[in-house]
Amino acid sequence: MDFSKLKGEIFFNNSFINSRKANIHVLNHSLHFASSVFEGIGVYNGKPLFLKEHLIRLKRSSEIMKLSLSYSIKNLEKICRKLVSKNKIRNGYIRPIVFRSSHSMSPETKLCKSQIAIAAWKWGKLFKKRALSLEISKYPKLNKTVYPVDAKSSGGYQTSVIARSNLEGTKFDDCLMLDLKSYIAETSACNIFWIKKNVLYTPTENAILNGVTRRCILKICKLNKIKYKTGNFKLKDIYSADYAFMTGTAAEIQPIKSIRNVKYKINSELVNFLKIKYESIKEISPNLIEDLN
Ligand code: PMP
Repeated sequence: MDFSKLKGEIFFNNSFINSRKANIHVLNHSLHFASSVFEGIGVYNGKPLFLKEHLIRLKRSSEIMKLSLSYSIKNLEKICRKLVSKNKIRNGYIRPIVFRSSHSMSPETKLCKSQIAIAAWKWGKLFKKRALSLEISKYPKLNKTVYPVDAKSSGGYQTSVIARSNLEGTKFDDCLMLDLKSYIAETSACNIFWIKKNVLYTPTENAILNGVTRRCILKICKLNKIKYKTGNFKLKDIYSADYAFMTGTAAEIQPIKSIRNVKYKINSELVNFLKIKYESIKEISPNLIEDLN
């Protein structure tokens, strides 16, 4: 799909306008220096899932990347809900983006103004396959010590973009990325989990975007007394797992069938249980993870 041909309305320059008119100049700062932050929010039955949670992360990402965001979370919530209803979206995705204007063509940002645009479109699950094959990226995920990975910033995606481009023409669907110390981080745009002897494992927040879906999964585990461990893990840890899956707003809970030539079973009782729970959470559509009980 060519997103520049998206129909409907986009919130831009403080109003809802025809999507075709929501344009920026080619000399935009964020286009040249990847200086934007954004969010991806799922919409189910016309209701955005974990809307407030995502907007809090957008605010935080903006602060980290020194972009001013004059809208309150409450205001942004209202705009997102209105956009969903204006575009008649039942199942889809909301993409708010905060970016810099065209007042600088260097990393200097003093004269740049922050702008926000929010788009929404009808969308299904990101991956159509039942289970995915992963390659290992030759590019690392950057660690907290060298890049603010907790911001969902466009700059943070550069190694993911190259890693995914390198998969073109191969049998792999996505790639697993290690951090600078060769600990497991995440996939190009999802968090990763694996199960070994009924215990769930996922990397700590050293070199990952701490996904809303990841936090939701850990909350489900807590509420249902499912044993899980977060920590620093090496490839040998995931290679000896029974099952593996990845999580994200658009991917939801996506089973993995192999990493390189290591194969995983895909019919896990625990993953099925998490999927059922996640489906029921989608129905009640809470605003915050802490609302789950
Ligand atoms: N890691 C990365 C790099 C991502 O881009 C995403 C979002 N697609 C995630 C993890 C998962 O985050 P969330 O569950 O909040 O969508």
